[in-house]
Amino acid sequence: MSKECEIVQDLLFGYKDKTLHNASKELVERHLEKCSICKKILKDLEEEENDKENQEKIEEEKEIDYLKNVNKKISKKNKLIIIIGIILLIIILLNIGIFIYYYKEARKVQIYLEDDVTQEQLDNIESSILNIDNNAKIKYYSKEDALNDIKLKFKENANLLSGYETGNNPLPAYFVVETSFDNAKNLVSNMENIDGVKKVTGNFNLNPYLLVISNIMVNTKN
Ligand SMILES: [Zn+2]
Repeated sequence: MSKECEIVQDLLFGYKDKTLHNASKELVERHLEKCSICKKILKDLEEEENDKENQEKIEEEKEIDYLKNVNKKISKKNKLIIIIGIILLIIILLNIGIFIYYYKEARKVQIYLEDDVTQEQLDNIESSILNIDNNAKIKYYSKEDALNDIKLKFKENANLLSGYETGNNPLPAYFVVETSFDNAKNLVSNMENIDGVKKVTGNFNLNPYLLVISNIMVNTKN
């Protein structure tokens, strides 16, 4: 190795990093034009550095990819949690709605009347209801009301009931009583023995879910 080679090789790092003063830089360049050995060494140095930079870039990209994946996983997880939360909320609200509806319906009692019920018996039945609950809301439906009501529910199939008129109306007249939950039970157990009453039914022993479903079905048929 010539003396000049030794000097140049000492300077190659600085040359590569562009930290040499002009005189040294020119010396290196002049030497490199005629010395393939030193040129090869410079080339190796530069490649080594490129490899290093590339390696660093790859590592950095790997890190970014990893972070992106973590983010994706987190946002997937969050989405899942939000979806589950919404479903739970809907279920809870639906249940609250069903039980509010049930509670309202469960306070209703139907008192079906004998066909030959007299006005005196009707008055007696009403006062018996008010005896159990002074604040009960009582609504009377005549046999005709009952028939019209069921014809309304049948709607397009009402002609199936066209044979039933006032003369041969098979439906009983009835009271609908809105009372408290407890008094609904009292009414059912106490009213059936009163003259003129055929049958008493309460909604409180219905399944809340079935109650809502059956009412939805009846109303969507309308
Ligand atoms: Zn050389």
